[in-house]
Amino acid sequence: MTRIVCIGECMVELAPTNTEGSYQIGFAGDTMNTAWYLRQLLGSAHQVDYLSAVGQDAISDQMLAFLQDAGIGTGSIQRLPGLTVGLYMIQLQDGERSFSYWRGQSAARLLASDPARLAAALDGAEIAFFSGITLAILPDDDRARLLSALATFRAAGGTVVFDPNLRPRLWDSPQTMTASISTAAEVSDTVLPSHEDEATWFGDADPDATLARYLKAGARTVVVKNGPGEILISQDGTISRVRPVAATTVVDTTAAGDSFNAGFLASRLSGEPIDQAVIDAAALAGRVIQSRGALMPCTE
Ligand code: ADP
Repeated sequence: MTRIVCIGECMVELAPTNTEGSYQIGFAGDTMNTAWYLRQLLGSAHQVDYLSAVGQDAISDQMLAFLQDAGIGTGSIQRLPGLTVGLYMIQLQDGERSFSYWRGQSAARLLASDPARLAAALDGAEIAFFSGITLAILPDDDRARLLSALATFRAAGGTVVFDPNLRPRLWDSPQTMTASISTAAEVSDTVLPSHEDEATWFGDADPDATLARYLKAGARTVVVKNGPGEILISQDGTISRVRPVAATTVVDTTAAGDSFNAGFLASRLSGEPIDQAVIDAAALAGRVIQSRGALMPCTE
């Protein structure tokens, strides 16, 4: 049995229904979306755990039940009194989606407050997956604590996988964001950035520049996503490129990158060579963006 631990924040999603003024509750969040797709793609020889924190209220109960129903392990999710889970609301105005967030009382901000818990959650796992959003929500000391736990995990033979997922509005400043992302890349074996964001915040002229920057930080494997554009791959010094199949109709790009990450990791864990894993990842992401919402049931 191999174990994968995804680390981060799952939130309540309020999405508009077809009835004016009415919203449907769902659960989503970048690292949870990846865990959700991993669980669907991998067989019973793999355990997918989520490392996070929630409150002790009814909506936290509901979130845990959702994760358990999806087959995601919740043993590493702490239940903290007096806090709850983060929430975001999607609003549609003239066909354009906008998002409002409430995450000030989110228990997930404390997911890395206890080093012993972190070590126990990672103990014996094969892969630890986290993102720039995971880092952004943590207090400074806890961010350092999480990176230190991941470095220890890596030194003991674990594989650390990181999606920078740059979200400037979650950070004090763009400088803090880019510095923290660079530090996180230094403890990561595999980095899965999206070029467009990286170009905006790191000034990368092209995907090759994004690739070079993360290789320099110490990653063995870098896969640079680029929307519908060519995906650039480097593993142990060998560079290759894969072009995603063009999507006929793009309905909703939410979770394109998250599902890509899951497709990639699932194929690698199933023994596929890296280029095939990227082809599989792009095929999954290409299907996800052709339906509404983050989580698309995928029976293959
Ligand atoms: P993110 O959602 O994290 O910003 P990207 O936009 O780079 O990530 O997309 C992730 C992956 O989703 C891409 O590498 C590609 O495989 C797939 N994808 C995204 N947009 C398209 C598109 N318009 N057509 C086909 N594939 C797409």
